[in-house]
Amino acid sequence: MTMNLKDKSCIVTGAASGIGRAIAERYVRAGASVAIADLRQDAADAVAAELTAKGPGRAIGVAMDVTDEDQVNAGVARVVAAFGGVDVLVSNAGIQIVHPVEEFPFADWKKLLAIHLDGAFLTSKTCIPHMKARGGGSIIFMGSVHSREASPLKSAYVTAKHGLLGLARVIAKEGGAYGIRANVICPGFVRTPLVEKQIPEQAAELGISEQEVIERIMLGETVDKEFTTVEDVAEVAFVFAAFPTNALTGQALNVSHGWNMA
Ligand code: NAD
Repeated sequence: MTMNLKDKSCIVTGAASGIGRAIAERYVRAGASVAIADLRQDAADAVAAELTAKGPGRAIGVAMDVTDEDQVNAGVARVVAAFGGVDVLVSNAGIQIVHPVEEFPFADWKKLLAIHLDGAFLTSKTCIPHMKARGGGSIIFMGSVHSREASPLKSAYVTAKHGLLGLARVIAKEGGAYGIRANVICPGFVRTPLVEKQIPEQAAELGISEQEVIERIMLGETVDKEFTTVEDVAEVAFVFAAFPTNALTGQALNVSHGWNMA
């Protein structure tokens, strides 16, 4: 059994920053052709140029708001024109907004669900026919430990991340006969811009210090008080994308230093 992504066509959404960027880098290192799909063309192009320079694979920047059906369709069409098809989709774009439920602005609720859930749905919907044409493929959703448990202030995020488990399981069932696999990666806290922003916000909302947010809220249930790294998550994204059979399809995997051993 070989684990190989050489010359595979991969789309990673939210790849201009953080976890998505690290996954794109891992895939390029494995020899893949990778689309850096993100909101801004200039940011996506900058990451693509950096990764292509490192090689041995290559990357292109594709501007795409994952909540917009026309932009998703146009972006995937660009990838197909550039790379000849789609083998791997990592639906990773995401944001965080924290408020107690009774203060959560409805517009923010809808915005967060749209990025995480509409984004996963629209990109999957558009890529599946291309994967069928290739005889198979891999769809990976960026879930979270919050796909499996709750935290205060994160109603929209926890709802969205739980929802991704359901969508992945349906795609795994529908895709089985076509060799199209679906998985969810569930990271613990990773120090990306998304998390850096939450530290002062949660300290203010909960009335505790930033150090307490890190030690108690973010790392309190890990086995070693360590953050998960973008490289940890990227390695798991490599395994799910490159795994050559349907054996792992439908599964979600925590990458979390022992937080939530479900
Ligand atoms: P990040 O803020 O570093 O990167 C997110 C990227 O998504 C940004 O480049 C942003 O421009 C892009 N994006 C946002 N809205 C978009 C849209 N509508 N269309 C296209 N791109 C869009 O965040 P990150 O920490 O790397 O998060 C990536 C994913 O990992 C998210 O789904 C997040 O929920 C998940 N996650 C993060 C952590 C963590 O601790 N950092 C833990 C578990 C899960």
